[in-house]
Amino acid sequence: MAQLLDGRIYAEEALEEVRAQVEELKKQGVTPGLAVILAGDDPASQTYVRNKGKACEKTGIYSRTIILPGEVTQQELEKIIRQLNEDPKIDGILVQLPLPRGLDEQQALACIRPEKDADGFHTLNAGKLMLGLPGTLPCTPKGVMRMLRLAGVETDGKTAVVVGRSNIVGKPVAMMLLAANATVTVCHSHTKDLGQVTRQADILVVAAGRPGLITGDMVKPGAAVVDVGINRINGKLSGDVDFASVEPVAGYLSPVPGGVGLMTVAMLMDNVVTLAKARAKA
Ligand code: NDP
Repeated sequence: MAQLLDGRIYAEEALEEVRAQVEELKKQGVTPGLAVILAGDDPASQTYVRNKGKACEKTGIYSRTIILPGEVTQQELEKIIRQLNEDPKIDGILVQLPLPRGLDEQQALACIRPEKDADGFHTLNAGKLMLGLPGTLPCTPKGVMRMLRLAGVETDGKTAVVVGRSNIVGKPVAMMLLAANATVTVCHSHTKDLGQVTRQADILVVAAGRPGLITGDMVKPGAAVVDVGINRINGKLSGDVDFASVEPVAGYLSPVPGGVGLMTVAMLMDNVVTLAKARAKA
């Protein structure tokens, strides 16, 4: 029976650390601030943005949510980002993805000053991760790594398999596992015989957006399985891992909900505090 990688416990711990740091910063006259831009009315995005606001409240971070209509133009969006770049109250800027159709995400993200890039999606920060230089790390992959560390899962010398190669989860988590001395394989939709690859994994991170993709027969006994997937089926959340068949095989398993999603929000708070500290020093 797998040990549960309980996002509620680990995220609470991380948020408590952030709260303490915010308190310290406030004593020095610095209040970390996060601006979240939400364009359009995607219900999942609205939920994520609400959760980020709640986490700011909990940790004492100043938060501002800018809600834009789905018809906002690229120019208007970029103008708002540039204003936030200059706003002294704001340390971190986050553009909630996906943006409505017709808007260029990469171009919008490129407008965020790298020093205010709360999500770590700016090309400069992505490049730093690739080069092994310090920079802002994307929240979900950072949350996965924090979870593994807090659970005492060894990465050094282990075989890690990542399912998914997106810029926001798959690729960065693969780079972080590599930096943590794992031997890493990245799978995607063209991978032949996925199970044959995933069965090699001591650490299996799944971020494909395919409900129940990973079943018990695809998991090495004792492996640490981290389910990043968030799928909505008839209004119910489920991951990419078939919990029922994987739980008896894996050594560790993160649930959905109650797993990586909570870590993502906590790591966003962590990033904002780090950015605020850097700005206070500059
Ligand atoms: P993307 O759709 O951008 O990427 C999915 C990746 O999975 C692609 O690389 C795709 O391959 C691969 N893939 C799809 N189907 C298969 C398959 N059958 N076998 C192997 N690989 C496959 O998704 P994201 O990375 O943005 O998100 C992945 C999941 O994680 C989603 O469910 C999303 O909701 C969730 N998520 C959760 C977060 C959290 O906080 N917990 C945060 C961000 C995302 P290819 O490149 O070939 O198309």
